[in-house]
Amino acid sequence: MSRKSIKKIVDKETKKEFKPKRSDKYSRLRGMKDILFDEYKYWDLVVKKATDLSTIYGFNHIDTPILEKLDLFERSTGKETDIVSKEMYAFIDKSGDRVALRPEATPGLVRAYIEHGMFNLPQPVKMFWLGPLFRHEKPQSGRLRQFFQYDLEMFGDSSPVADVQLILIAYNFFSELQIDAQIQINSIGCKECRAEYSKKLVEYYKERGKRAKLCVDCKKRFTKNPMRLLDCKEPVCQQIREDAPQIVDSLCDSCREHFIKVLEYLDELDIPYNLNPFLVRGLDYYNRTVFEVFAVNDEESETDKRQSALGGGGRYDELVELMGGRPTPACGFGIGIERVINKIKEKNIPIKEDRDNYIFIAQLGEQGKRKAFMLFEELRKAGFKVRQSFTKDSLKVQLEEADRIVAKYTLILGQKELLDGTIILRDMESGTQEVVDYKKIIFELNKRIEGNKN
Ligand code: AMP
Repeated sequence: MSRKSIKKIVDKETKKEFKPKRSDKYSRLRGMKDILFDEYKYWDLVVKKATDLSTIYGFNHIDTPILEKLDLFERSTGKETDIVSKEMYAFIDKSGDRVALRPEATPGLVRAYIEHGMFNLPQPVKMFWLGPLFRHEKPQSGRLRQFFQYDLEMFGDSSPVADVQLILIAYNFFSELQIDAQIQINSIGCKECRAEYSKKLVEYYKERGKRAKLCVDCKKRFTKNPMRLLDCKEPVCQQIREDAPQIVDSLCDSCREHFIKVLEYLDELDIPYNLNPFLVRGLDYYNRTVFEVFAVNDEESETDKRQSALGGGGRYDELVELMGGRPTPACGFGIGIERVINKIKEKNIPIKEDRDNYIFIAQLGEQGKRKAFMLFEELRKAGFKVRQSFTKDSLKVQLEEADRIVAKYTLILGQKELLDGTIILRDMESGTQEVVDYKKIIFELNKRIEGNKN
């Protein structure tokens, strides 16, 4: 987000452009977003879907600190990965400790699993997590420096069914939000498969000067981690990789069997997927199944697509042990909430707003205001969805607000009603009004809103 993209603000009263003093000095950091009022309906929808699905499939809600030891990410995500080597918000705190704002969720969740002795719990331990992550990337549409993820992790289950359950939840999450999602899937095998495959890959890149044509980063990857050559976003590297050997041909029997089972289950569940031999995911800890989710019909280039992946995950059977725990197979995925919301907005997917049955309380005069305050509390405690704007005196302005929030009824308390012990009940849709006994107002509302208060 450049300074130029800061929206013009026009002062409603003077009709002139309003420029906050020192707007640059105190403006948001690049790549960081405020979530404003109108945006929350999307967040509520997406977070509710994530929470409901996680609970139905038996995942328990967990949270971890935003700040963790830097070592945690260096060891788990991997020192050489882009996330750790280039994008992390890492610093030395006031106690001299090397710390980092978490760039991904899995390391903290693995740490929590080990630190709280969760291997003693019945396995698998299924976790569901929602929270902000921080990566110092180049900001652009769908790529922020602070973004939210919905994560699921499953510890203690090595079977292909566990992988499939995660993919199924991800798929259900998107389809129930009316986003047509497609899964791209690959297997990157185990250490043995990868050792054999890396040799073949190195041979391939050594042939006919391909290595010399690679981008600067890939030249480094060639010696450190050749499989990452497949992951590169540079067009030249993508072109060279076209005929590269595929890892599925180097899988050992057990990894191949695991992968075939995953695919068979997906077929049975009718989950559309594409085999993507170049999908390796850029982190150190993955093994066997890796997958990413994209919106279908994305007419974007490969590079754009990579940036617009809605989610991704895979198996990481050795990470718990690497981080000091008992050997524990595990798998997980993360979905980017902002990208999901962008998709919902882009496709104009209608959001059902839960505005039914709002009761607006309008008041006139000092005494009316006092009584309205009490009535508000009384109705709220009785379980009604009450709304008000007690700071406003004009009835017209209050009714406008009632219209704005699409209230079903407005209750009006003025001088006359106070004297008579009555209250006006206005049906906002038809505009008809009736005078009802103040003492019977809860009874009257209950009659109209039959058991549908909250
Ligand atoms: P990753 O943890 O890199 O596998 O990313 C998982 C998902 O998080 C992606 O598919 C995106 O939806 C989302 N994501 C990753 N990085 C960003 C970012 N910088 N800004 C917004 N969303 C992101």
